[in-house]
Amino acid sequence: MSAGAQPAANDAAFRQFICRACGYVYDEAKGDPDGGLPPGTRYDDIPDDWACPLCGVTKAEFEPYVASTVQRAAAPVAVTGRGRHEPGVVIVGGGRAGWQVAQALRERDAALPITLVAACSADVYDKPTLSVAIARGLDPHRIVRESAAEAAKRLRLQLVPEAIAVRIDTVARTLRTTRGTLRWRKLVLAHGAAPRLPAALPPQQVWRVNDLAAYRRLRDVLATRPQRVVIVGAGLVGSELANDLALGGHAVTLLDVQPRPLAALLPAPASQRLLAAWAALPIAFVGGAQVAGVETRADGTRRVALADGRTWDADQVIAATGLAAPDRLARSAGLAFDRGCGGIVVEPATLRTAHPDIHALGDCVAVGGQASRFIEPIARQAQAIAGAICGDDAAAAYVPKAVPLRVKTTSLPITLQGSIAGEGDWRIVADTPRELRMQRVDVDGTVIATLVASAPPAVLPRAA
Ligand SMILES: Cc1cc2nc3c(=O)[nH]c(=O)nc-3n(C[C@H](O)[C@H](O)[C@H](O)COP(=O)(O)OP(=O)(O)OC[C@H]3O[C@@H](n4cnc5c(N)ncnc54)[C@H](O)[C@@H]3O)c2cc1C
Repeated sequence: MSAGAQPAANDAAFRQFICRACGYVYDEAKGDPDGGLPPGTRYDDIPDDWACPLCGVTKAEFEPYVASTVQRAAAPVAVTGRGRHEPGVVIVGGGRAGWQVAQALRERDAALPITLVAACSADVYDKPTLSVAIARGLDPHRIVRESAAEAAKRLRLQLVPEAIAVRIDTVARTLRTTRGTLRWRKLVLAHGAAPRLPAALPPQQVWRVNDLAAYRRLRDVLATRPQRVVIVGAGLVGSELANDLALGGHAVTLLDVQPRPLAALLPAPASQRLLAAWAALPIAFVGGAQVAGVETRADGTRRVALADGRTWDADQVIAATGLAAPDRLARSAGLAFDRGCGGIVVEPATLRTAHPDIHALGDCVAVGGQASRFIEPIARQAQAIAGAICGDDAAAAYVPKAVPLRVKTTSLPITLQGSIAGEGDWRIVADTPRELRMQRVDVDGTVIATLVASAPPAVLPRAA
């Protein structure tokens, strides 16, 4: 416990709770000093109006988190020789999905050989932090929660970082990677999704913010001076980044083919409210903007051209035009792939792919024709997969469900629950200078979704 920490209210071990909206983990041992909760504050003692420091939902959206259980249960048991001689479980991906499934497996079987292969360093961090790092005053080089080596040691697994998995052989039961070939008995695909770039946005001309390494590079470039940034795509990531980079003093132009930001998620009055909140920031939203191309000019700056002939000059261009899972590994194993939403097709309850010994979870899957690109489902998916692999009949089947969605535009955070869509019969139930509340109703008048957009107490721009 750090200096100034409060003694525990009782002798029970400290617990952790995860925010269902963004994945932030509240650790009773650490508390949330910035939010007024000293280390040692028990979850039960947190006031109901305390807000998640990452996304802002209230305490009611937190649920118990299993990480500490794994640490305690698994730590004293040594891995047996089985790990060296038997092909065990190979996990592809070192993001939240990969680590969660490793943890869920280790909880159930202390001696199971597990290998985790990742194209990146596989350090553990909260990806949703990337779009609010400036608002939260976070140094991009200090976002990692646990190094990959530490996590691998804690879970006693073999870590193969900086290795790209390129081919699955289902007959020989091998996985070819850029750092060698691995044998597997069970394979878990957790390789996430990659930015979907339209032809008009060549990868060498635009930034993509879908992993910590890329985000760090972008912030390093932006750290030199305030810059003109064009963001293409005003969905969740584009809008949150626009808000955050503008708080950092950059002049942001946010382009979208739709006439308003977040058009797929929000009804028009909520988009208008967001635009009004942005009036205090250097953000220019341009709707109806079909990007036709980006070019680098002689002075190194970029020029973004629209189909209607308009152009914008920028120092940096960011593409936030959606994600799709790469299909290369799935194809090599003959797995079904949903081209519509860009995901590996899995059986919903067990997350099993078309191959009985290959599972998949996280951003790379399609469940019932839908991609699942949020934090909340991942832990439940990991439990279902670990249960299936370890033959645990009591393991809960995965059931897709609606979870709160928090739009982390910190000048006007917006919480959505239920059947979310920009269109439909949305009705205003409260409209005050501080708050907009809306409900979406179906043909019978039943409320199927709710929206709350509340102005924060104060938004203080910070230097980047
Ligand atoms: C800016 C931003 C803000 C977000 N905010 C929220 C939010 O507020 N709430 C929320 O619920 N969700 C949010 N999300 C989405 C959420 O972060 C993702 O759904 C989640 O992190 C996906 O985890 P994953 O492990 O499936 O994929 P990833 O985190 O993408 O991990 C994929 C892993 O696979 C590895 N990999 C990829 N290809 C290969 C290969 N061929 N071989 C080996 N390894 C490979 C990668 O290196 C990486 O380690 C946000 C996302 C972004 C980008």
